[in-house]
Amino acid sequence: MRVRAAGLTDVGCVRKGNEDNLLVDVKLGLFVVADGLGGHAAGEVASEIVVNQMHHFMSQTVEQDRTWPMNYDMALSFNGNRLRAALLLADQAIVEDIQQHPERESMGSTAVACLVDGERITLAHVGDSRAYLLNDSGIRQITRDHSWVAEQVASGILTPEEARKHPFRNVITQALGNGGDLNVAIQEMEVKKLDRLLLCSDGLSGMVPDSDIHSTVQKAKNLEEAAESLVKQAKNNGGEDNITVIIIGFDANEEHLPDITT
Ligand code: CA
Repeated sequence: MRVRAAGLTDVGCVRKGNEDNLLVDVKLGLFVVADGLGGHAAGEVASEIVVNQMHHFMSQTVEQDRTWPMNYDMALSFNGNRLRAALLLADQAIVEDIQQHPERESMGSTAVACLVDGERITLAHVGDSRAYLLNDSGIRQITRDHSWVAEQVASGILTPEEARKHPFRNVITQALGNGGDLNVAIQEMEVKKLDRLLLCSDGLSGMVPDSDIHSTVQKAKNLEEAAESLVKQAKNNGGEDNITVIIIGFDANEEHLPDITT
């Protein structure tokens, strides 16, 4: 399956700095969106640590021939373990950075990561950055946010519509860098030809309804145009937060698109 991807990040219309980071490595099959928290330039440090740490670890573990840096979860596949370990190491790296720079005490980061291995993809996330699957039949959010409102929706206390407008909608229940127990969500699925996978920060999903995300991606001539249109739409709707999107296409029928676009 031929994999192509386009990624884009934008400060948005309100924030002074961009605390999001992204990684697009088509050769490695690794795609990451990280949304930093903490302000005063610390958020962008945290999200940068996440993408660098993940990239480093995933590059070092293509073959299953090394001593694992932490407990190996037998319930997960090798790739599931790779992503889980990469995120736990990123968590540790943020904690260590805070020890050296106490002024960054409040920093942390979300992450959503996708590892593509043929038709099989492995997704891992912490926090409220999301993965969506899009194709001709519609759009489906694959990750469930680690957020207060998502828990309320799961318990039937809030409707998804109420959650979108709730004053606590930005409260996440876990993040990288807190140094506590981290419950990395891992899932695996198979993709089909022409499927598209979208990874994004809440600067997109909080500003653009899912149905508009779907129609925008379907209308775009190629992945690059889809990424640009999504960012533009988030900004037209107010752009209240940093916006980051990665769109991965599987055997997409497109012309003149380079294999790697960042
Ligand atoms: Ca955000």
